[in-house]
Amino acid sequence: MQPLPTYDDVAAAAGRIAGHAHKTPVLTSRTADAELGATVYFKCENLQRMGAFKFRGAFNALSKFSAEQRRAGVVAFSSGNHAQAIALSARLLGIPATIVMPHDAPAAKVAATRGYGGQVVVYDRYKEDREQIGRDLAARHGLTLIPPYDHADIIAGQGTAAKELFEEVGELDALFVCLGGGGLLSGSALATRAFAPRCKLYGVEPEAGNDGQQSFRSGAIVHIDTPKTIADGAQTQHLGALTFQIIRRDVDDILTATDAELVEGMRFMATRMKLIVEPTGCLGFAAARRVAPSLAGQRVGVLISGGNVDLTRFCELLVGG
Ligand SMILES: *Cc1c(COP(=O)(O)O)cnc(C)c1O
Repeated sequence: MQPLPTYDDVAAAAGRIAGHAHKTPVLTSRTADAELGATVYFKCENLQRMGAFKFRGAFNALSKFSAEQRRAGVVAFSSGNHAQAIALSARLLGIPATIVMPHDAPAAKVAATRGYGGQVVVYDRYKEDREQIGRDLAARHGLTLIPPYDHADIIAGQGTAAKELFEEVGELDALFVCLGGGGLLSGSALATRAFAPRCKLYGVEPEAGNDGQQSFRSGAIVHIDTPKTIADGAQTQHLGALTFQIIRRDVDDILTATDAELVEGMRFMATRMKLIVEPTGCLGFAAARRVAPSLAGQRVGVLISGGNVDLTRFCELLVGG
């Protein structure tokens, strides 16, 4: 078992990504404050390079490659944003990248991955095992496999977003973070416990795929079938061995949001805050709205994780919802 990353790793990651990743803005909305009866700080990773926080972990992980690893290249499997993050980070660092993507990944994400110079290998997400495909490619070509969440350097990199949030706004009473495989949540947990030990930290996942909630409450990692939800960034089937240990130790609870609540969140972000947020990126805000009575008078952080959504899809969701 790999050792768990600590807050020191998050701080070191912040040094590595400085000057490469954006320090994203923290936005506020009087309408959101009024609705929740709280002071809400939105950390806008939809405005991060390539449109999601995943650039942080990917750039941190690739920055640590040896000369030999850099020459051979990196392989990643991803439903989208991790793929783009690896492809872009690899290009910036001069490393060849091979990306294993599902056949039904959003067109914008596939195109962007190719645009960043990544070589794309497609698989059927309902039939084939992407981890096995990734491992085979790594073995055959000597590539280094960087998984989307269960890796100490990925977790440490993702934690830099919450670190920036606390450095900018100070202590919070509660922080809501989107949850897929748990890289963002476990990294955020390391930062939260360093900056705001008493802050309530919540992971939020799609109601249709609440494996994280089941795992958290039962004390063992629960595996589920690929859930059908519009939150494509959180269609993971299970938490990671590393992410689960940190989440169990440092997170207060796992909450859920329905697809309808995510669409309402997208509508709010677009109309009130002039932000394009992908469905997965609205998980945190949707849960905060649901538990609003318990947040009265508090200082609340909401991590908006990404903004990569086809514009047609975005419009269809808002009209259909
Ligand atoms: C990957 C992703 C998530 C989930 O992150 P994990 O580290 O897998 O928990 C949430 N939102 C967006 C936009 C993502 O790309």
